[in-house]
Amino acid sequence: MPGVQSLQPYQPGKPTEELERELGITNSLKLASNENPLGPSPQAVAAMLGQLDQLHLYPDGNGFRLKHALSSHLGVDVGGITLGNGSNDVLDLIARAYLGPGRNAVFSQYAFAVYPIATQAVGAEMHIAPAYPADHDMPYGHDLDAMFDQIDEQTGVVFIANPNNPTGTWLGADVLEQFVTRVPDHVIVVIDEAYFEYVSDEMHPDALKWLTKFQNLVVTRTFSKIYGLAGLRVGYAVSSPEVADALNRVRQPFNVNSLALLAAEAALQDRTHIEQSIAMNSCGLLQLSDGLKQMGLTCIPSIANFITVSLGREAAPVYEALLREGVIVRPVANYGLSEHLRITVSTEADNLRVLESLKKVLE
Ligand code: PMP
Repeated sequence: MPGVQSLQPYQPGKPTEELERELGITNSLKLASNENPLGPSPQAVAAMLGQLDQLHLYPDGNGFRLKHALSSHLGVDVGGITLGNGSNDVLDLIARAYLGPGRNAVFSQYAFAVYPIATQAVGAEMHIAPAYPADHDMPYGHDLDAMFDQIDEQTGVVFIANPNNPTGTWLGADVLEQFVTRVPDHVIVVIDEAYFEYVSDEMHPDALKWLTKFQNLVVTRTFSKIYGLAGLRVGYAVSSPEVADALNRVRQPFNVNSLALLAAEAALQDRTHIEQSIAMNSCGLLQLSDGLKQMGLTCIPSIANFITVSLGREAAPVYEALLREGVIVRPVANYGLSEHLRITVSTEADNLRVLESLKKVLE
């Protein structure tokens, strides 16, 4: 398929093991994939350990227990939940169900890298809306008016990340709800809330509340971020039962493994782990943004568990020099942000290490 030949594969954060092998070092620090520095919930680990002798059995392909746990936790209809192998899987299912040759997906410049991949992989076109400029209040953020202008008769899906990765930028409740209201019914609006649980601002929209109003709305979330289960791969979509039915038709029968199902269910209940993660992230985000500002650098405002900083010069050599310090951050030149680096918020000590390493490298 022509779209597949031209798509740029996803570039993951460099694993610590790879860096340590290459440089012959130990004690490297990875702040490149927005993982939870507190690790998984101990309750999730315990739940998995208790089931290791059951691995000869297929998982529950309908994810009954996890879906019911999510339904009561979120206050949504169980029939609207679709589980995925990470929320990435769910984004792919949406593309397979609602895009294809002759159709297009709308998303913003600098939006999460999986949207172009999922779109091109099914032979659909990309309608990329220009983002807000660097001097806007929400620099590099999604411009919903520009996105609306990209919608036409052939649009199958609009992807919105709130907050967005790699920018950390966000959209307020009023503007986002107005946008969903304006979008024609034939278009599926995906609001990707991968970092939702980290957002402490009470004014931040919870798009799940709009599901009863909009039959074409799909909200995606993940267990990879605050729940600390990125390695297991489990995420989900919440939508109308009609959309969930369509996603279910293109879903692999056993797309979420049995340990992931159990761990996610346990992690959902572990309030202590979640609250500790939120608290550590709020302090860490402040520590990093203050530290970077003191170095004379400009950050894109973020409410997620990462911050993207402009170095005011090509970031690639700085990224390489940081690797030699044993610190892995994320270059974002593939997004067209060649002067920026994205740094995951971590513990106070880790944040200090990345700040000090960056200072040393820049001097
Ligand atoms: N959406 C956004 C905005 C993300 O940043 C990520 C992870 N990088 C995902 C979705 C996918 O995460 P996962 O597949 O681990 O759920």
